[in-house]
This record gives sequence, C-alpha cells and structure tokens, in this order.
Amino acid sequence: MRQVVMHGPGDVRVEDREDPSIVEPTDAIIRLSATCICGSDLWPYRGAEPVDHQVMGHEYVGVVEEVGPDVRTVKVGDFVVGSFWASDNTCEICQAGYQAYCVHRVLMGTIGTQSERARIPLADGTLVATPGMPDPDLIPSLMAASDVLGTGWFAAVAAQAGPGKTVAVVGDGAVGLLGILAAKQLGAERVIAFSRHADRQALAKEFGATDIVEERGDDGVARVKDLTDGLGAHSVIEAVGTQEAMMQAIHSTRPGGHVGFVGVSHDVAIPGDELFMAGVHIHGGPAPVRHYLPELVQLIWDRKINPGKVFDLTLPLDRAAEGYQAMDQRTATKVLLTV
Ligand SMILES: [Zn+2]
Repeated sequence: MRQVVMHGPGDVRVEDREDPSIVEPTDAIIRLSATCICGSDLWPYRGAEPVDHQVMGHEYVGVVEEVGPDVRTVKVGDFVVGSFWASDNTCEICQAGYQAYCVHRVLMGTIGTQSERARIPLADGTLVATPGMPDPDLIPSLMAASDVLGTGWFAAVAAQAGPGKTVAVVGDGAVGLLGILAAKQLGAERVIAFSRHADRQALAKEFGATDIVEERGDDGVARVKDLTDGLGAHSVIEAVGTQEAMMQAIHSTRPGGHVGFVGVSHDVAIPGDELFMAGVHIHGGPAPVRHYLPELVQLIWDRKINPGKVFDLTLPLDRAAEGYQAMDQRTATKVLLTV
C-alpha cells in the first residue's frame, strides 16, 4: 500500500509499504476513504519536534475490511470514524469521558493513517460506525470529526461554552474554527474570533463568530475587554499552543471564567503570579474525541453541521508533500488527502 513517511524535517515522501495485518485479536483493518494532514504534523515538518523516517497521520475514516477474533461490535463493511487515540472505551478513565487517557490507549500517529489501509487497535472501543454508507459529500465532515472537530468541541466544553456565554477563540486554524462551530452549537450567545486572515474570518462567521478581533497579545486582550464591558470573556478556547496564545487566552478570560486549551503546548510556561491573580479555571490537553464522536457523527449525518468546510485543499495521497508545503506556507488551512 501507499503510505506517507516523513524522512526528516521538510522531507515528506509517499512510499510503498507492507499492508497492515491483524496483530492483536481486538484489531480491525480499515481501507481509508480519505485522510488528512493535521496542524500538529507541521511541528516535526518545521523541525520543532524530532522526526526520523516517521509514518504520519492520525485522522481516518474508512471501511472495515477485516476484524480480529475478539472484535464483537465492529463488522466488515461498516463505515467507521475513529480518533487519534485508540481506546478500549471500558476502563474507568474512558467511562469518565477521558478516552485520550485510556489505560490501554494506543497513539494512532505511531501506526500512521496517511495511508491506503490502517490497523486500528481496540476496534470495538475506538471505532464509531455511521448509520450507513455516507454520501461522498459527507466524507470531509466525517473526516473532520476524527480530530479537529472533536478537539474543537472538547475545547468548547472545557471552556464551558453555553447559553448566555461570551466565548473568545484564540487560533484560526482548523481547530479554532471548529471551536467556534462547537461554541455556537453549545448555545453560546456571542463568539469572538481572533483572526487576521480574511478567508478564515469569513469561515469563522459562517461557523458562528459574531465578532472578529485582528489584534494579538495585549492589544487583542484589550479588544476583548472592550467588547465585554471590561470584564473579559466567560469562556476562552486556546487552539495554538504557543506562549503568546496561552497568555492571550488566560488574560482574555474574566475572573471565574474558563479556559479550554487544546493547542499542543510548545514551550509554554505560565508565570505563577499571573496564574494566581487571574482567578480562572484552566482545563485541556489531548481531546477525548471518542467521547463526542457518536453525537458529532449524528449531527453530520443529519446535515446539521458542516465541519468539512475547513478543508480548503484536496489532493491525492501521492501528492501529500504538496499538502504539507501548502499548510506550512499557510496557503491552505487544512488539506484533505483522497485515497
Ligand atoms: Zn479505557
């Protein structure tokens, strides 16, 4: 099969690799219908994380081709969506809604899903089947549910977005944009998007943003205060992972408010005195996407949300290197790879 391998920073190749096979009795093998490139794939691409001949990708939708002898609920022929952590969905941590920390979790990035086929561990716990075979136009949205929508949704929940709340969103990448969609769906009254890109501002508004703030850092915080009677937002989503973004999120939150952070943290250090004086709740980390998947798949199936709009470039898998380049140079927000 064809699979994306990152040989080193900036060096993405699509290679012939051995087809996956059942290793554990709880595994399934899927044939991917589509895959995509994640903003977090850019960290190794840019040399900000070590990489050496690493298989890439952790987002996936596809059709089950084979199941191990202990797989009970997932069937050959099912169209399935899963998240970037495989999880048993039965341990105490999973039952509490934190499948990203399952005691048996497997990181899908170590398997690589920018490929034609993939082995999915813990298939019964990990995979959510759609009600039937999806229309082709639903595939980008189902693909988004695999990570960016689920992550944005978790961020909105962690920030306690809901009726009567003003939500501010730091980061206008795919996760930030879908955090806006999630906040709107959860009933937020007002959604402030930080963005300085016209095309992303337009999508932010389409997803539910009511206000756009182009300033960053302290100036951005001041604008949010202006828009909220000097108080700050009730709920702030941090979807970048840098020091500036995290402090912008904390400082944009009113005392007693909530920060939901899902940007993969890179050298973020929160000064203790600023944390102490902020008086805000901070919750986040790797999103338990699996927890939200059944609800998200249904919303997509019923065409109530269209998160697939975050994909603004579609390429065949064999042209993955161009996709990485486009996301690195910000000519694309998120790239869908057809298989
Ligand atoms: Zn578990």
